[in-house]
Amino acid sequence: MLTGQCDCGAVRVTIPGPPRRINACPCRYCQQIGGRWGYFRPESVEVTGPTTPYQRAERVITFHHCAICGVTTHWSPARADIERIGVQMANFDQSALVDVPVVCGV
Ligand SMILES: [Zn+2]
Ligand SMILES: [Zn+2]
Repeated sequence: MLTGQCDCGAVRVTIPGPPRRINACPCRYCQQIGGRWGYFRPESVEVTGPTTPYQRAERVITFHHCAICGVTTHWSPARADIERIGVQMANFDQSALVDVPVVCGV
């Protein structure tokens, strides 16, 4: 298991292990927040600490940011047919991710 955290440490995200790939999503919003997503089944991810939700106009997924320092921690599905969570891999120790390919696409 790997645990990442936001800048202030109030929010911690635990995942079962490195993702198969990291998506440096090229969309405008992900570029703005520096999104580097690893995808996991929702039940395999544990998030603790206070997050502030942000739902974009599409209302497909909900982004979560630390309520204290504002760092993006993950996104969760806002629609029942989406069966994954996107975890911000920039919040993890990068030495555990050196072998994970970074892709640029959805
Ligand atoms: Zn924080
Ligand atoms: Zn994006």
